[in-house]
Amino acid sequence: MALIQCPVCGKRISSKAKQCAHCSTGVDGDMHSRMRIAHIQKTQRLMNQSFVAMTLFIAGVVIWFWGGEAAEGIRVQAGALCFSLGFIGYLITRVQIVLHKRKSI
Ligand SMILES: [Zn+2]
Repeated sequence: MALIQCPVCGKRISSKAKQCAHCSTGVDGDMHSRMRIAHIQKTQRLMNQSFVAMTLFIAGVVIWFWGGEAAEGIRVQAGALCFSLGFIGYLITRVQIVLHKRKSI
């Protein structure tokens, strides 16, 4: 008997169980392919998230250096905000992606 992860609630359940003991999701033959799909969807979501963060980061740089000169006033704040949000968001998403990819399915 092996333990597998429920595709819906993510808790560990027996691979022989007919349904998840935690959320009562039916677990049948295509359980593995459903888990695969859930895994791929999560990867996809994380990739989108990192793309958004990257865009924000670049937007911050562009706002800051628009016109070839250092920003002043409100542009400094807007640029710095986008820049740091994008940077932190990107780092967090990258860590999530690495952790997610390490998980076996
Ligand atoms: Zn479940």
